[in-house]
Amino acid sequence: MVSRIIPVDEFDLIIFGGTGDLARRKIIPALFKRFQDEQIPSGSRIIGAARSDMDAEAFREFARDAIVAECKVSHENKDLAEFVEALDYVMIDALGEEGWADLSALLQPGRVRAFYFSVGPSLFDALAERLDRHQMVDAETRIVVEKPFGRDLSSARALNKVLSARFDETQIYRIDHYLGKETVQNLMAVRFGNVLFEPLWNSQFVDHIQITVAETVGVGGRGSYYDKSGAMRDMVQNHLMQLLCLTAMEPPAKFDPDAVRDEKLKVIRALNAVEPHHIIRGQYDASAEDSSFREDVENPQSKTESFIALKCHVQNWRWAGTPFYLRTGKRLEARDSEIIVVFKDAPHSIFGAEAGRHHNELRIQLQPDEGITLKVTIKEPGPGGMRLLDVPLDMSFAETLGPAADTPDAYERLIMDVVRGNQTLFMRNDEVEAAWAWTDPIIQGWESRGDVPKPYDSFSQGPAAADMLMQRDGRTWREIGQ
Ligand code: NAP
Repeated sequence: MVSRIIPVDEFDLIIFGGTGDLARRKIIPALFKRFQDEQIPSGSRIIGAARSDMDAEAFREFARDAIVAECKVSHENKDLAEFVEALDYVMIDALGEEGWADLSALLQPGRVRAFYFSVGPSLFDALAERLDRHQMVDAETRIVVEKPFGRDLSSARALNKVLSARFDETQIYRIDHYLGKETVQNLMAVRFGNVLFEPLWNSQFVDHIQITVAETVGVGGRGSYYDKSGAMRDMVQNHLMQLLCLTAMEPPAKFDPDAVRDEKLKVIRALNAVEPHHIIRGQYDASAEDSSFREDVENPQSKTESFIALKCHVQNWRWAGTPFYLRTGKRLEARDSEIIVVFKDAPHSIFGAEAGRHHNELRIQLQPDEGITLKVTIKEPGPGGMRLLDVPLDMSFAETLGPAADTPDAYERLIMDVVRGNQTLFMRNDEVEAAWAWTDPIIQGWESRGDVPKPYDSFSQGPAAADMLMQRDGRTWREIGQ
């Protein structure tokens, strides 16, 4: 088989917030895995930057512990010893004036230089200004920014303005890690690499589409942040919106960053203004062992949602009449994320009423395991007439591809895309703004009406009203965790 590793030249990656949770759990382990796969050339530098008073050796120790915890390797692992040699650390306060010259001295001219802003967005302006002032921005410079990208349209515009003052849009990589998931990219491969699906991928054949991102965890230690955010801002505006875009978009003329993002943008702009009765919000109650949402956010009056289910329409020729149902929440029955394309029943059953009603479903599962399943109807084996049965045609790639099917973490893919300069799987400024322009009136409506989310049991399927949203239309959600 042809090597799956696309080589890159030596690069410098600087992680502002290198001592934080995201760096520890995701960024550093992802870099280590790419190193293990020999995709990171020796000579590349990974430089942590934060206010904590530590030296390079202490940062290496921090990275070693992070990798041992996340990558299931031992402290004695040979790759680990080699990998941490590439690490360095600079003590920098994004708002201060110390340390910038030290950082600049560590950077090699002429190579790709990626600054990962793994810090709160309030620091973006200060970081961008200082990088510019200390002449660390050149044509090969890229910056990576994390969610949340704003909390509404005006704050997102302000952030875009801050970044565009110092960087060209081609240098800005806005991460939505859902786009780095192998199966999400496979959705594009399945849609645009096969002739089977595309002719059916429209309202003539698709009854509806369900997108679910369910978590079992509550808001944990992020209570005060989450109470100001909620499921709509934290999940729907970005992750679910991106999944919807990839499902609904027209085939781009080519798989290139702007062609793909142009098509995604058209989907967002075609979304209808969702009516209030097509949105269900919920808040989880306490369980025997776990506290309630309001306890977790320490706000007994909180009107923030930990669950949302909504029905929307992509108002264009392809999707007229096919609803998209989106659902996401915390403290639900299982960790379960998927896109389900539910096709219409066959127009006429030659097998009679006793054969029952059957339809095809394409299920793209993102969590806990990644995979694609097509539900097809077959004859139930054995004598006794023509009874029909739905069975999954499992597109599990593990058997066909062997070790090549090992699913890399989304961050591995995305960080290497930054180094390669490929923005296809990153959100463009206008996409983010269009998503907020759709989200803002919905949130403003709740606020002006004083809407209170409905309570739901911890580790359940969410509020009963979410089931009603579907049942009113003669449809049902796929059960979370099934
Ligand atoms: P965190 O654990 O609070 O870490 C913040 C990091 O920023 C620390 O390394 C901190 O180190 C550094 N920092 C804070 N103030 C600084 C300053 N003035 N100058 C320089 N460094 C400073 O946060 P996180 O969870 O890693 O999240 C980082 C960003 O990613 C946030 O915007 C978050 O919303 C986003 N994000 C995180 C996750 C996740 O899973 N954690 C997921 C998606 C998005 P010092 O205190 O040593 O300075």
